[in-house]
Amino acid sequence: MNLFDLDHAGLREFFASIGEKPFRAEQVLKWVYHHGQTDFEGMTNLSADLRARLGEIAVLEPPRVLSEQTSRDGTVKWLMGFGGGNAIETVYIPEPNRGTLCISSQVGCALNCTFCSTGAQGFSRNLTTGEIIGQVWQAARALGHERNGRRRITNVVLMGMGEPLLNFDAVLPALSLLRDDLGFGLAARRVTLSTAGLVPGIDRLRDAIDVALAVSLHAPEDDLREQLVPLNRKYPIAELMAACQRYVSDKHKRSVTFEYTLIDGMNDHPEHARKLVKLLRRVPSKLNLIPFNPFPGTRFRCSPPERIRAFQEIVMAGGLIATVRKTRGDDIDAACGQLAGRVLDRTRRSERLRAAAGSAQ
Ligand code: SF4
Repeated sequence: MNLFDLDHAGLREFFASIGEKPFRAEQVLKWVYHHGQTDFEGMTNLSADLRARLGEIAVLEPPRVLSEQTSRDGTVKWLMGFGGGNAIETVYIPEPNRGTLCISSQVGCALNCTFCSTGAQGFSRNLTTGEIIGQVWQAARALGHERNGRRRITNVVLMGMGEPLLNFDAVLPALSLLRDDLGFGLAARRVTLSTAGLVPGIDRLRDAIDVALAVSLHAPEDDLREQLVPLNRKYPIAELMAACQRYVSDKHKRSVTFEYTLIDGMNDHPEHARKLVKLLRRVPSKLNLIPFNPFPGTRFRCSPPERIRAFQEIVMAGGLIATVRKTRGDDIDAACGQLAGRVLDRTRRSERLRAAAGSAQ
C-alpha cells in the first residue's frame, strides 16, 4: 500500500482497518505534507511498534524525478517516472504574486486534440492518486515550501498531460489532498481542473468537491471544434455549455474559465470572436486566449500578434473578461500544449502520425 494513494478519509479507513486509531491519519498527513517526511522511522510521534509495522505493510513512494530543466524565464519542468518506461511532465510557472504548478493526470492522452503535443503522443495509462499528488510533493520539495516567507506553490492546475475527468476516481482524492488543511491547504479558487469537455464528468465534479473549472473550448461552433477537439462529436457545444451552467449554478462555484488557443487562419477570425461573445455571454466566465505553441510535427501556426489583439478587443467590447496568456517556458518545451513526457503508446497514434508525416515529405 502506497500511502500517497490515500486522502484524509482513505487514510483514516486504512488505520482503522489495521486496528489503529483513525487519528493516526492526521499525524501521518502532517508528517508527509507539512514536513516532507516519507520515512516512517522519522515520524517520532508514532509508537516504535507502529512505525515498524507501517514499514512492513506500507510505503510512501512519490514519483521519481528523472530530470529537471529551468527556462530562461524561471519556468521549471520536471520529467517524473514511475517505472515501466512511462514518464510525465510537471511544470512550475513563477510569477511576481503567485506560483502555479501544472500537473498531469494521465500518461499521454486518449482524446487526441489536434493542436496538442500530448494528444500526438497517444495514451498509455491513468496515473494513480499517489502519482498525481506526488508531483506536487516532489515539486514542493525541489522548490522549497517557502521563500521570503511566501509559499512557492500557491496554485495548482490539472492542465498537464491527460484528461483529468477520464481518471476521476484517482483525481478526486488528489484534489481532496490539495484542498485539505493537513495536505497542501489550498483554497478552492487556487485549484483548477481543466477538461476538454467531458459533460458527465463536469456534473460529477460539481457534486464531489469545490474547485475551479476550466474548459478547453477553442472554437465557438461545432464543425470547427470537432476538428480541434474530437470529443466535441460526443459532447457538442450546446451540451457542454449546459453543463457549465449547471456547474456555476452551485453557490460555491463562481465562474468557469474558458481556454481558447488561437491558431493562425483556423479559429482567429473576427467572426469567431463575435460568435464566442454570443456563446459565453450567458455563463459567468473568464476567457483565456492562448497563442498556439508549436511542437514538432504540427501543421498549425500561432496567430500573428495583431490578430490576437483584434480578437481580444472584439470579445472585450462584447462584454467578456478576456486575457491573453503569456507564453512561458517555450525554450524548454514547457508551454501550454507542448508537454510530451515519455509515453509507451498503447493506441499506436504516435506511430501512425510519424508514418503520415514521413509519407507527406
Ligand atoms: S488538450 Fe488536453 S484533452 Fe486534448 S489531447 Fe491535449 S491533454 Fe488531452
